[in-house]
Amino acid sequence: MYHNVVCRVYMSGRPARPDPDERKDRILHTRIPESLEDAIKVKAQRLRIPVSNLVRNVLEQTFQLVEDVVGDGLEIAHVARRGAERVREAATRPVAAGIYGWQELILDRDERCRDCGRELDRGEKSYRGVTDRPGTPVFLCGGCVPKSPRG
Ligand SMILES: [Zn+2]
Repeated sequence: MYHNVVCRVYMSGRPARPDPDERKDRILHTRIPESLEDAIKVKAQRLRIPVSNLVRNVLEQTFQLVEDVVGDGLEIAHVARRGAERVREAATRPVAAGIYGWQELILDRDERCRDCGRELDRGEKSYRGVTDRPGTPVFLCGGCVPKSPRG
């Protein structure tokens, strides 16, 4: 099932060439699967940012990634594909439903950070998602684990 999603997307121009028209907000309408909408909302909530900010950031990062690449077409295609894979992975990641906390632990096997994909080596400090639902354990690195507001 697809849902209509309306996000306020800030279509700002490059700082070096501010175009007054580009600084105005534009509304972007798109149809997305319900599962993607849920994943976006969960990710935004976890990052404690509005959904529109998350969508805007993903779009900007994706286009910036492609713009930043100079060189041969193969490299452009490779980097763009990698970026698209990362975006798709982030957007379609199974919703970490049911995770109510992150337990610090020392790994006794190699794992991978769910959010950044970094390899977490055996013996490394990591955080396991604590959930009341069955499923594959989820791990985060220290850089990706949500921080306490008290530090
Ligand atoms: Zn990480």
